[in-house]
Amino acid sequence: MKTTQQPAPATPRLPHAASANDPTVQPVPASVVEQVDAADVTLSNPKRAVISLGSNLGNRLETLQGAIDALEDTPGVRVKAVSPVYETEPWGVAADSQPSYFNAVVLIKTTLPPDSLLERGHAIEEAFERVRDERWGPRTIDVDILAYQDVVSDDPRLTLPHPRAHERAFVLVPWHDVDPEAEVPGRGAVAALLAAVGNEGVNHRADLELRLPE
Ligand code: ADP
Ligand code: MG
Repeated sequence: MKTTQQPAPATPRLPHAASANDPTVQPVPASVVEQVDAADVTLSNPKRAVISLGSNLGNRLETLQGAIDALEDTPGVRVKAVSPVYETEPWGVAADSQPSYFNAVVLIKTTLPPDSLLERGHAIEEAFERVRDERWGPRTIDVDILAYQDVVSDDPRLTLPHPRAHERAFVLVPWHDVDPEAEVPGRGAVAALLAAVGNEGVNHRADLELRLPE
């Protein structure tokens, strides 16, 4: 179950002692039961967040899908949209010294506060046995929070929006795919930022596809 909160019953329930043949007891209509069940799987007052996923070790597509499924399996998180897969060359390292990256962006709705979402991202990285020994080293999975609602924070543990999102084509291209109207808080529209950096080196892998979890 992906429930974080139990909704209040739509109708007050009578104590069990009120027997089935008590004429004052009204059966709960099936439609009400359905509504309660539906509320049970709907997040209350969810916030929008945008997550970037990158993988350049192992089975990159499978790892990206695993991370998406792990996000969906998180209580208080719903994955709403998944971008196409892009292949990009790694940054900050000599050409051909590392495998290329597969990158994608997902939109989520969540009742988790930003720090809990970051913790969950780290847990997903650990689950895929990411080794943090080398800065910009190869990694099975990198989970970054690009934005959380309109929150702006310069806390180095969790900087929002992500401090380099606005200048990275491999982030802006898939972000624009899943949300063409998106804004990077404090930086402007994703579409305008993307027009400024261009999409060179970010190659759409039309032969690959990530699934939106059911
Ligand atoms: P990078 O993603 O820049 O390649 P890491 O994944 O190793 O590097 O992250 C380094 C640290 O960055 C993390 O321990 C995390 O606390 C911090 N961090 C700051 N802002 C964010 C953010 N928006 N999303 C993810 N991590 C962040
Ligand atoms: Mg990261």
